[in-house]
Amino acid sequence: MSKPYQPTTRLLRAGRPHQGWVNTPVTRASTYVFDSVAAWRDTRARREEERLPSYGARGTDSTHALEDALVELEQGFRAALYPTGQAAIVTVLLAYLRSGDHVLITDAVYDPVRRFCTEHLTRLGIEHTFYRPDGVGIEALIRPNTRMIYAEAPGSLTYEMPDLSDLSTAAKKHGCWLAVDNTWASGLLYKPLTLGADISILAATKYLGGHADVMMGAVVTNTRAWRPLERATIDFGQTVGADDAFLVLRGLRSLPLRMVQHARNAMQVAEFLQRRAEVVRVLCPALPGDPSHAVWQRDCSGANGLLTIELASTFTAADADVLMDSLQLFGIGASWGGFESLVIPVQLGSRALPDPTPRGPMLRLHVGLEAAEDLIADLEHALSAMTSIVRPI
Ligand SMILES: *Cc1c(COP(=O)(O)O)cnc(C)c1O
Repeated sequence: MSKPYQPTTRLLRAGRPHQGWVNTPVTRASTYVFDSVAAWRDTRARREEERLPSYGARGTDSTHALEDALVELEQGFRAALYPTGQAAIVTVLLAYLRSGDHVLITDAVYDPVRRFCTEHLTRLGIEHTFYRPDGVGIEALIRPNTRMIYAEAPGSLTYEMPDLSDLSTAAKKHGCWLAVDNTWASGLLYKPLTLGADISILAATKYLGGHADVMMGAVVTNTRAWRPLERATIDFGQTVGADDAFLVLRGLRSLPLRMVQHARNAMQVAEFLQRRAEVVRVLCPALPGDPSHAVWQRDCSGANGLLTIELASTFTAADADVLMDSLQLFGIGASWGGFESLVIPVQLGSRALPDPTPRGPMLRLHVGLEAAEDLIADLEHALSAMTSIVRPI
């Protein structure tokens, strides 16, 4: 037998027709018409177990093609698609948790998820506790009614990597689901399902789409976790349009290539920033000296374009605003994972666990695919603009 293909080759072949067109044509559809009532009945009897065309909301060739590629990417059993990453996360929480249950949530969670927990899980009688983003001490927080550990690898904005094998051991021992938001690695650099997680969640809006032109979320599960998620997805009316699925699948083909370049640019930008006196810290698990560097090195196969920087505490939030307003190539905007560089101010005020280190103003950079030397020149200019402002006393 010949050697199995490398992951990149498998990814480029996944979700494609066996012959004919290179890409699965876009199938815009709601109604699927059957040849006979018998065929209609047969599909309805089988569609819970098999992926058959039956109705647009249950999937088309376009969404099935993307699902297949994501299953390949994440090494999972099946995938489901959602209109946003947030919708994917909310569906996961509601699919596996019932009134009276308790869920452990990383304190570095994507902020809209924190609000969903405090506003909506609480209202539904589902308790939650925030745990340290590196996962240390998790087992002591597990209660008899804990049903899920929800992680981000790494956490939003501060990039702490949990040790997933520890979380997985604790989850298995106590009969909990382990769900991981894998948006940072976008399925490529980190494989939660091979490290003991049951559920991997992706904001495809970020690197999978990769071009700031589409919103989407996805969840890939192992065999055990699939059925509850599939039910909830259908019951909550979650689906995506064929054009959007096509765009994400098109983005996915260049994901490995883009990711390498984002990481290369980000490392050059990070090295520049680390040499500047205005910057006291650059947060990124790929940097030697980062608290999560060892776990990142063990569990991830690469890095991306995200960096968070902390300015010296002599600078104020207003100074940081001057820095951001002075940037030409970094757009001020939400999200990341597109080809372009972005910047936003970082607020950690909603975190539940106190941060022991006093912090200067923080900014999140998404380093895009522009030439690194241009990005560095832009930052150099903006840092000088910030330090040269004369403030009234
Ligand atoms: C952006 C993001 C999401 C949400 O994705 P949307 O498609 O914008 O809803 C979820 N998790 C993480 C870690 C994210 O960065």
